[in-house]
Amino acid sequence: MYNRNTSAPPLLRVAPERLALFLDVDGTLAPIVSKPHLARVPLATRRLLQHMQTRGVALAALSGRPLSQVRRLLHPLELAVGGSHGAQLSLTGGRSLTYLAALPDDLVRGLLAGIAPLHGVWLERKPAAVAVHWRQAPQYRAAVDALVHETLRHAPEWQLIEGHCVHELRHQGRDKGKALRRLMQHGDFVGRWPLAIGDDRTDEDAFAAALSMGGGAIRIGDVQPSIAPWRLKDVSALAVWLQQQLNRFGPGILDRSYKDGEYERT
Ligand SMILES: [Mg+2]
Repeated sequence: MYNRNTSAPPLLRVAPERLALFLDVDGTLAPIVSKPHLARVPLATRRLLQHMQTRGVALAALSGRPLSQVRRLLHPLELAVGGSHGAQLSLTGGRSLTYLAALPDDLVRGLLAGIAPLHGVWLERKPAAVAVHWRQAPQYRAAVDALVHETLRHAPEWQLIEGHCVHELRHQGRDKGKALRRLMQHGDFVGRWPLAIGDDRTDEDAFAAALSMGGGAIRIGDVQPSIAPWRLKDVSALAVWLQQQLNRFGPGILDRSYKDGEYERT
């Protein structure tokens, strides 16, 4: 199933109004950096994507990052976003935001009640996860473990991820492939040809979804195996390919509503 001998993508013949691009962010649009908060999507890439939108291409970002971070990295682009590996979905520029996966409130209340007597244990709510931290109270590790497993008995779609002094419950039914399929059922995306682009294992789910719908997939990086039929070496090679693809669409009406300065405000 996996294939290492993939080639560079050709320039697509699909019309921009028929194309839907599903883009990973880190390692795909933004070069990988040592600290995730230092990541940046180059100005030229954001401009390029905006020009693609102006030509009619439907754009979505699929990232492991929370929605808010994806929006910040791609500012001022307005695009659909699947955040937290698809557990968060924003269909239209943040205006209709859906949390597809949140631990039911009664279970969160149960966890809170359970940790109340465990001094030093605290609970953190994340967009698609709940973390019980016990770093300050290692003596309660077993109690936390029992409490979390009791919660999981009532939440079959959730799984336990044990970190360093933390028990995290995460929804297991969401991935980038499901996010892609869901977005393809909405508004601008319906009936288009999906092309998924990404650089790591979590992107393979999006590739599988796009390919199963007759679309395409590009894996960034030339080391890891992938089901993607096409490959590009790195972030820069993708930017070049996207620019060539945009050029292939031919001259369009440039959207002057974006002032250049807007791209600098990130
Ligand atoms: Mg990535």
